[in-house]
Amino acid sequence: MELIDTHCHLTFEHLADDIEAVLARSVFAGVTGWLTVGTDPQQNRKAVELAWKYKNMYAAVGIHPHDAHDVTADTLTELKELAQREKVVALGETGLDFHYNLSSPSDQKRAFTAQLKIAKELNLPVIIHCREAFDETMEILYQHGLDIRGVVFHCFSGSAEQAKIVLDHGFYISFTGVVTFINADLIRKAAKIVPTDRLMLETDCPYMSPEPMRKQKTNEPALMIHTAKYLAELKQMDLTDFADAVTATSKNFFDLH
Ligand SMILES: [Zn+2]
Ligand SMILES: [Zn+2]
Repeated sequence: MELIDTHCHLTFEHLADDIEAVLARSVFAGVTGWLTVGTDPQQNRKAVELAWKYKNMYAAVGIHPHDAHDVTADTLTELKELAQREKVVALGETGLDFHYNLSSPSDQKRAFTAQLKIAKELNLPVIIHCREAFDETMEILYQHGLDIRGVVFHCFSGSAEQAKIVLDHGFYISFTGVVTFINADLIRKAAKIVPTDRLMLETDCPYMSPEPMRKQKTNEPALMIHTAKYLAELKQMDLTDFADAVTATSKNFFDLH
């Protein structure tokens, strides 16, 4: 069995400090590939560097909506340059987050649109972070994202109705361990309607350990096995069949080889 954690932050403090052990535990659990995702210029540089060191590790580079207020022309020039490095397979994470509003909505929209443009120019897929901003995110994608090679909504936390809209546009959906949480009925309903050829798995670690490990403060790729088991059962599939299907989806989407 082979599983890929399609969205983790292995360059963040607690994981980066212990990376060899983190990866060893991951492989032991059956999670044998990783896409480490950048969120700001410094993390992007680290992500590219880290992915270069390890087999089966890839990087994505982007500016998180939280950091959109810092985006200048220079930021975007460097981002575009990094995005063309070896083993960089996606732009992101980018998108809109109106829950925290750490950057103003207009700064977020500006940074998001600029990153979609880079993805288009470089023919890279995009990893979308969308929190309490579904309509606005879809509107920007409708204007600037329909001809992008691939679009995935990461850490999907919307309803089945919203999942259907995402799927109808040809986009993909990725689930974290949040789907295993007791109060996550809404997300479970969404997960039920996403076919495995549009579904990917992620930890978004170091955040949000899945049940039954929710108490583990620092989430890590090894724990994605719990999310995989949970979703396989939800879809009434054999774990191996489910893993094979979503791994094939991930490899196709990010063009991993
Ligand atoms: Zn995110
Ligand atoms: Zn993330």
